[in-house]
Amino acid sequence: LARLRARLVKSNNVFGRSLLALLASDDIDEDVWEEIEETLLTADLGTEPTMELVDRLRERVKVEGSTDPDRVRAMLHEELTALIDPAWDRSLNVEAAGRPAVVMVVGVNGVGKTTTVGKLARVLVAEDKDVVLGAADTFRAAAAEQLATWGSRVGVPTVKSDVEGADPASVAYDAVDAGIEHEVDVVMVDTAGRLQNKANLMDELGKVKRVIEKRSEVDEVLLVLDATTGQNGLNQAKVFSEVVNVTGIVLTKLDGTARGGIVVAIQRQLGVPVKLVGLGEGPDDLAPFDVESFVDALLE
Ligand code: GDP
Repeated sequence: LARLRARLVKSNNVFGRSLLALLASDDIDEDVWEEIEETLLTADLGTEPTMELVDRLRERVKVEGSTDPDRVRAMLHEELTALIDPAWDRSLNVEAAGRPAVVMVVGVNGVGKTTTVGKLARVLVAEDKDVVLGAADTFRAAAAEQLATWGSRVGVPTVKSDVEGADPASVAYDAVDAGIEHEVDVVMVDTAGRLQNKANLMDELGKVKRVIEKRSEVDEVLLVLDATTGQNGLNQAKVFSEVVNVTGIVLTKLDGTARGGIVVAIQRQLGVPVKLVGLGEGPDDLAPFDVESFVDALLE
């Protein structure tokens, strides 16, 4: 968590610093409130949450009659925390009784799916779990190779097809089947994400899920979104959630953006919690999403 903070501080402090500077003005007039709105919008908080947050802050500043920076910081902290909702269950559903838990990982190419599968496998292995990976992105041979490389790096087997363009659903099925046969704890299936062919991609994803479900329940569908794409990620999220029942969001590349506010917008729009965040390209750069430290880091 200290590391998460350090990373977020590095990337997002523009957000916190300018907000706090604005709020600490002697006289918070209309212009200042407008600038505050701007800052929140620039951080990708989304229009509605921004309006809501600013309204609540205005009200509180008025009622308390206090523009003491520490007090205002505390108010902002509380309001942001409430927006992101600390009550949400963000635990990963990776425990299934008497069978492997099945995790599908979906998202557009380049957002960090394969990397996330690799990092997550490492976390699970560190928890003493047996893991099998399934390379259901069969359209790029490189994708399966990349996953297998992660697999060997963290010491877990990868089920893949040697035939480029093989049926992704069949590879996914084989991975789940292997997991059941070897009585592993978790099977993680990496999928393709060519958004340029949206209808096909979506058909295919739906099929992968249905075919897996012939063999096992799917316990977790993680949608991976790149935080640096801002509101664009929201449109992707909508498309994916129409086809598969997304159960959690992984927000990657938070190390490279000042737009952490997207967390708020995504959760609102999808009604699904951010469960994990990616903070770099290395094997240890994945952390559970923690509201307190996230807001702390935003306001550092
Ligand atoms: P995929 O096409 O969705 O499977 O994406 P990849 O896993 O291949 O990742 C695409 C690129 O993003 C790679 O260069 C990764 O190293 C990089 N990447 C993934 N996650 C993160 C992250 O959290 N932070 C940063 N900075 N880079 C990341």
